[in-house]
Amino acid sequence: MSIESDLSRLREAYVARNPESRRHYESATEVMPGGNTRSVLYYDPFPLAIARGERASLWDADGHEYKDFLGEFTAGLYGHSHEVIRDAVVTALHGGINLTGHNLLEAHLADIVTKRFPSIQRVRFTNSGTEANLLAIAAAKRFTGRQKILVFKGGYHGGVLTFSTGHSPINVPHDFVLGTYNDQDGAAALVAKHAKDLAAILVEPMQGAGGCIVGRPAFLEDLRRLATEAGALLVFDEVMTSRLAPGGRQSVLGITPDLTTLGKYIGGGMSFGAFGGRADVMALFDPRMPDHMGHAGTFNNNVLSMAAGIAGLSQIYTPEVAVAFNARGDALRERLNATSRAHGSILQFSGLGTLMNLHGTPGEIRHCDDIPASESVVKDLFFFHMLAAGFYVARRGFVVLSLPLTDDDLDHFHNAFEAFVDQYGKKLKT
Ligand code: PMP
Repeated sequence: MSIESDLSRLREAYVARNPESRRHYESATEVMPGGNTRSVLYYDPFPLAIARGERASLWDADGHEYKDFLGEFTAGLYGHSHEVIRDAVVTALHGGINLTGHNLLEAHLADIVTKRFPSIQRVRFTNSGTEANLLAIAAAKRFTGRQKILVFKGGYHGGVLTFSTGHSPINVPHDFVLGTYNDQDGAAALVAKHAKDLAAILVEPMQGAGGCIVGRPAFLEDLRRLATEAGALLVFDEVMTSRLAPGGRQSVLGITPDLTTLGKYIGGGMSFGAFGGRADVMALFDPRMPDHMGHAGTFNNNVLSMAAGIAGLSQIYTPEVAVAFNARGDALRERLNATSRAHGSILQFSGLGTLMNLHGTPGEIRHCDDIPASESVVKDLFFFHMLAAGFYVARRGFVVLSLPLTDDDLDHFHNAFEAFVDQYGKKLKT
């Protein structure tokens, strides 16, 4: 049997197993385009409807339980309704939401964030990582008086800042210059060419949505130097990578960006984003200054995100927990890769710590063009195989750990992957 026929067999089983999800999806198409309000969640033939979650488990509308190995694309680091987060949110609810004023929580969360990420001397909050990057770009343009932003193909900085295939029609119309990730000479040439117009270099220390492509230290160090030499700001988008170490990947690399953007789990699982960095750059937003830049947002300081964020960072995801958690992720990724190699398969998981992505190529992945188009069928097969085995992962092969996953859960995940390699191994050889 070919891979394509294996895939159709798994898909048919999926359709037969999930009549309620299908019904939910079909009725949603009558009120939302394609039944969807968040593109990444759609997959063919119809997506699962998730009815509820608890700790590291999810249940779909047909009552099947899954171990959650996606964790809300990294925002769900604490698992589903961790008691400490829930108590913090309930306390905030009792104190009244929508207070229409500076509240008692926002500066507390800002204090925790600035201590945790030393490059962030001042911080402001937003509702999403997308907004955080939009504001960081606006700040860099104003601070430098320049227009151009160097970004990298395969990068993802938000719904309107997506560079997976280069430029996108949905992107905000800034003057972007597109580089190749991990290409030091290419970045140097682009910076030299645009130096006097360059406001910022915006980069993920590891491209997350692009497939967990790890930024090489030498590349990221070069970007620091190039930005300084050109008088541009270096912006690290750590929306995903901030979880990889107590102070984010920047602390591991020893690189100090001018601005950093955050999001995801930092708000304890509520809507969240933040941008911050050098005090002189962030002073642009100081409302006491006559020419300050306005930064509005009804929900920027909402008490639910502030309270959940404080509880999460101060009581759960302490620096020690962050280190231990990512070591578990590294160990799992290495074990999965060792199993793949032992079976002579072409599969590998790229990534760092608790973030990893399956690829259908054994070669080094330096940038998105190293990912063969042919691997999409392998990822489909993996996705439906893992769902059938009771593991919820992303259709694109993205695997994310959350704190309540036990060592047994990780073992079972590994075993399900081993069964996958075993079953399809011969077809997954070079
Ligand atoms: N930057 C990165 C690196 C991201 O991974 C994401 C979200 N996947 C964003 C920005 C956008 O964050 P949000 O979805 O909260 O807008």
